[in-house]
This record gives sequence, structure tokens and C-alpha cells, in this order.
Amino acid sequence: MFRGIFGGKFRGNRLEKRFYSIAPILEPKLPQLGIFINNEYLQSISGKTFKTINPSSGEIIAEIPRSSKEDVDLAVNAAFEAFKLNSPWRKIDASQRGYLLNKLADLIERDFINLASLETLDMGSPFPTTSAFINVGIKSLRYMAGWADKNHGKTIPMDGNYFAYTKLEPIGVCGQITPWNGPLLTFCWKIAPALAMGNTVVIKPAEQTPLTALYMGQLIKEAGFPPGVVNIVPGYGDAGEALCKNQKVDKIAFTGSTEVGKKIQQSSGIGNLKRTTLELGGKSPNIILDDVDLPTAVEWAHQAVYMNQGQVCCAGSRTFVQSKIYDEFVEKSVERAKNRVVGNPFDIKTEQGPQIDQTQMEKILNLIQSGVKDGACLATGGARFGDKGYFVQPTVFAGVQDHHKIAQEEIFGPVQNILKFDTLEELIERANNTNYGLAAGIFSKDVDKINYLTQGIRAGTVWVNCYNVLSAQTPFGGFKDSGLGREMGEDGLHQYSEVKSVIVGLAQKNS
Ligand code: ADP
Repeated sequence: MFRGIFGGKFRGNRLEKRFYSIAPILEPKLPQLGIFINNEYLQSISGKTFKTINPSSGEIIAEIPRSSKEDVDLAVNAAFEAFKLNSPWRKIDASQRGYLLNKLADLIERDFINLASLETLDMGSPFPTTSAFINVGIKSLRYMAGWADKNHGKTIPMDGNYFAYTKLEPIGVCGQITPWNGPLLTFCWKIAPALAMGNTVVIKPAEQTPLTALYMGQLIKEAGFPPGVVNIVPGYGDAGEALCKNQKVDKIAFTGSTEVGKKIQQSSGIGNLKRTTLELGGKSPNIILDDVDLPTAVEWAHQAVYMNQGQVCCAGSRTFVQSKIYDEFVEKSVERAKNRVVGNPFDIKTEQGPQIDQTQMEKILNLIQSGVKDGACLATGGARFGDKGYFVQPTVFAGVQDHHKIAQEEIFGPVQNILKFDTLEELIERANNTNYGLAAGIFSKDVDKINYLTQGIRAGTVWVNCYNVLSAQTPFGGFKDSGLGREMGEDGLHQYSEVKSVIVGLAQKNS
């Protein structure tokens, strides 16, 4: 047994074992359906709504008020008022902010089964996977809660007769935009450091998965956060764009595609200069050297690709295998993919649920076709699974070349591309030869080779003999087009503060 995905104990394809012994709720309680502003749920000003769909069946789960610019402006005004100097939020002690974050974590734990079931219903990942993700969200709230009253400035031995010190202060109103592939986890990652530092928040969940975010509104109110501290605006990209352009917003934090991230960086610079944190796409190399224990490496590489239906920004989507073990590795990986259990995400035996929606399913199937056309060898899978919902067969390509589209573009689906390499020098060049730089994996027993590769790979996270291990304590983010700034850890906290230098002139000494 060894430590595994999301820090839990990992045996074979297993996430934390305890999540397999919980029975999910097949019809979880829905949250109040509204735009959450000043701790109240409102209808949209335009009266418009949108539908959220169960990706396992294509059926409508609920209809939700759709935020447009007017609603976003209202939410930003609430956050702006809540940030004013004499507001209840600005007056509370830093330790109390930590207390409130811990209280929120307690409430998520209380409603854990309902929340994890709701997430499985709305986004389609198997219940143990959504549980493991939410568990990391809870840990992030608690980790940042601990920082709330420990975020010290410095005293500085400044030249002259002065007393100089720095304070770390909140930035102000933070606009936060989350994706659909880990809805509640990314919600927690975003709000935790912002609130620990004393900012206020307007958060826009992805249109495909608004339900757990709306549920959080109820818990935020119940925990005792003052009105306006967290506001939730469900809606589409136009609502996100309105948030980026609003002049009262001081910071934008986004997780999603590189394409949208680039747009967000531009729109956040129109008018006032907002601070931005962007956690974007990847095409991460997962490197298997020829000294590994083969079955273990095959399993890790499998999980590195297929976890969450392949809908993970740091997925190990280019599996580089050294030539001596290449054929055997491919054979075993194909066998493993064929055994992957696809189906109802509420069934505890299921390893892979549906993709998030029809658009994503079709995008994946088109990329698979491009792989075949480019000349890669489709070893298993390659088609839709069943005819209901948005399932895709676990797919493995062998003989993938660097120039193939499937080796260049983010597929965000259950498709493993296995590439062959000979030398480490050649490998580093090829592994770095994309615009992305989010993560990488290295599997080997040779410490010198591991160190050499770790230095050479340009990525925000390098996992050695493990993969997809994310924790609240460790910074996460990308080099190059994979993003700006870091989330989690102390680095993540500092993305939510401004440094204020205070220089105090001291009285002259009597001579
Ligand atoms: P993905 O590729 O994961 O589907 P996107 O990058 O398209 O995700 O979207 C992630 C989030 O960004 C969602 O909440 C979405 O509504 C929002 N979004 C999409 N377009 C824009 C935009 N132009 N400005 C701000 N937010 C946007």
C-alpha cells in the first residue's frame, strides 16, 4: 500500500477506502435555487433561467436563475459594501475569520453525503471520487482557517530615524470563476484564502454544475458569515465576463481552459488593473523509466489519465514510456483500460461515469478520430459507451507521435496516449515541447535520474512515484500557458493580500 490520489490511501484503483463504505443518496436534497446575494436567494433581474442536466441520463435536474450583468453588478455592490472599513466583516478579529471557515468546514462534513451525492448527480463522477474531491475542499478551508491570524508582516531595519513595518492586508472584492470538473473542491479552494485574508467574494460557478455551489450559500449563511461577504452568481460566460469588467472588483481568480483564461486576463485589465490568478489547462507528461515495477507503474499511469473521466487539468495525458518496456507497458495498459468499469456513478463498483455534457463528449470523440487519422494505433476503446448520457469508452492509443493532435491538445477525456522514448535528454526536450506546464510525473527507482528529470521539466508540480496527489498545504499552479500564480499552501494565501509598508518617523533624540 502507498499514499495515493488526493493524499488518501491507495490500493489498486481505490481512492480513500472509507468513501467506498458510504451509501450515496440517490435523490439528494437540492439547494435553494437562486442568485445568492447578501445571504438571500434572489430571482434574476431579467427573469431568465437555465437548466442543469444529469450527464448520466441527459435529463433536467433543475432550472436555475441565470445571472446577467445586472445581477453580477448587484452582487459586486453587496461585496463592496461588506468590505467597507466599518462593516461587520472588517471589524471582526482575524481569529474569528478562522473560526467561521472552520465552522463552514464542519457544516460541509455534516451534509457530506448529500453534497457528494448532489455533485455526482450534477457532474457525473463516481461517488467515491466526488467524496475524495470534497474532502480536499474541506481540508483547504481548515488549512486557510489556520492562517487567518498567523499571516504576519515584518519589521524592517530601515535607514534613517524611522520605524518601518509591513502589514498584509486584504485586496478587496474578489471575483472568482470556477469550472465544472471539481465544482465544490474549486469553490473551497477559491473562497478559503480570500476569506482567511478578509476579502469579500463574488463567485460564479460553471453553468454545467451550479448545484453544490448554491448549497454552499445556505451553509455560508448558517455558519454566520455576515451578509455580502460571499455572493454566488450562477450563470454562463457572460456573467463571468461582467465580473471581470466590473470596476469595483479588485481581483479575479479563475480555473478553466487556457483559451478562456487568456480572455479573462484581457477583460480583467480593462478599466482598473485587477490582480489575476489563473489555473489553466495542461498536457502533462507522465514519464515511466525502464527500472520500474511494471504493474504498479501501469496502474498509476492509468489513474493519472482516467481519474474523473479524464476531466482533470493536470491529468498525465502524455504517457512517455522508455523503449525497453514499451510493448509490455502498452499491453498491460490496454488490458487495464478494458477492465475499467464504466456506468452509473452512484454504483460503488463504477470507476468511470459520464463526461460532463454532449459538447465535451463530441469534442473527445472528434479528437479520437484525429488520432486515428494522424496514424496513431487505437489499441482499445474509441467510441461512445452506450446510447444514454455522455459516456466514452476508456481509450488507449499506442505509437503516438509528438506532432499528433492527440499529443498536443488537451483532450479532457478518458484517452491515454502512450509515447516511446530512449534517452533522458531527448525526453526532456519532448516533454517540455508544449505551451503548457502544469504538472509532470516521473516513475523510477533511480534517484539520479529522478533528480535530473525533476530539474529539467518545466511544470508547476512534479510528482515522483505518485500522481494527482493534491493537498491543501502544497502550492498548485502552472508554468507557461498553464496559468498565473498559485493556489493552496502559503503561496496561495499570498495571492489574496496586498503588502502595505508603514514608515513611522521617530522623534529626534535630544543631543
Ligand atoms: P472548461 O474548458 O473547463 O469547460 P471554461 O474555461 O470554458 O471551462 O469555463 C470555466 C468557467 O469560465 C465557467 O464558469 C464559465 O462559465 C466561465 N467563462 C466562460 N467564458 C468566460 C468569459 N469570457 N469570461 C469569464 N468567464 C467565462
